[in-house]
Amino acid sequence: MMMDGKLVKLHLLEELAKKIKCCHHPLTLAVLLAGDSEASKIYIRRKENLALTLGITVSLYSFSNEARESEVIACIQKLNEDKNVDGILVQLPLPPTFDVQRVINSISAEKDVDGLTSNHQGRLLQNQPCIIPCTAMAVFHLLQFYQVSLASQNVVIIGRSNLVSKPLACLLTNHDATVTVCHSKTKNLVDFTRMADIIVVAVGKPRFLKGEMIKEGAIIIDVGIHREGGKIVGDVDVDSVQKKCRYLSKVPGGVGELTVYMVMENLYTLYKNQEKQKNIGN
Ligand code: NAP
Repeated sequence: MMMDGKLVKLHLLEELAKKIKCCHHPLTLAVLLAGDSEASKIYIRRKENLALTLGITVSLYSFSNEARESEVIACIQKLNEDKNVDGILVQLPLPPTFDVQRVINSISAEKDVDGLTSNHQGRLLQNQPCIIPCTAMAVFHLLQFYQVSLASQNVVIIGRSNLVSKPLACLLTNHDATVTVCHSKTKNLVDFTRMADIIVVAVGKPRFLKGEMIKEGAIIIDVGIHREGGKIVGDVDVDSVQKKCRYLSKVPGGVGELTVYMVMENLYTLYKNQEKQKNIGN
């Protein structure tokens, strides 16, 4: 059976829209784009479109490919101080000369919509309240909606990126799953994947996971996004995997849908946290 991210998103949006309507001011998200990646522009447009339906304002700050890291950081520092901005997001990837974590860490934790600052990542590691990175939470929402229990389940994550896989490994461990993180140096990957109850594939290679690599009845979450001509495919070879698995998340229309949704949910959480702080201050 296919897991439908659009369906889950519609379900979650209903609740979030009600909450956002009750906010004391219209929410504003600042998005920074450095470089001219077409894929990044598409992702930003998708965020803008969803924000529009929720009455959220998106302010876009674009920098050329030649922009210096210090210019982007200076812009973030201004936005940190701007009382009209509730959240800040840096669209990744950044130009190759940039120190990605230095740029991200210049976002104040109070405005970090992606939960990628060392502050939030550290809190996630310690299972403290925090902003959880959007794609990790997207995977979690999918599993929850389809009532996949995590406790005592063997989860294999293929990939060890700071953006997706490591935060997800923490999140699922915090929910009592037994998590194995595999990567390009893992020996005999199939020995791990064939044992897994749940496999999350975030490898960045089209159709990487094949049916012969999984056990009967496994649950497969495909994080990958690849444009092939006019088509979008994931990291899973759908034809061979679909025959064997219990659930497979759609691509497109799976994790990606919920990742965009999570930006809005995280923005609302930041707003709520700020409101709490104000009340404590009064
Ligand atoms: P990434 O930073 O490129 O990480 C890929 C990971 O896969 C690395 O850890 C790498 O190992 C591992 N890997 C590569 N070849 C492997 C192999 N043969 N066997 C086992 N592991 C291997 O990618 P990412 O940022 O995590 O993104 C992964 C995919 O998800 C991409 O397709 C990306 O476009 C997509 N994505 C989707 C969303 C969404 O919302 N759906 C969000 C973000 C990303 P090493 O560390 O050893 O190199």
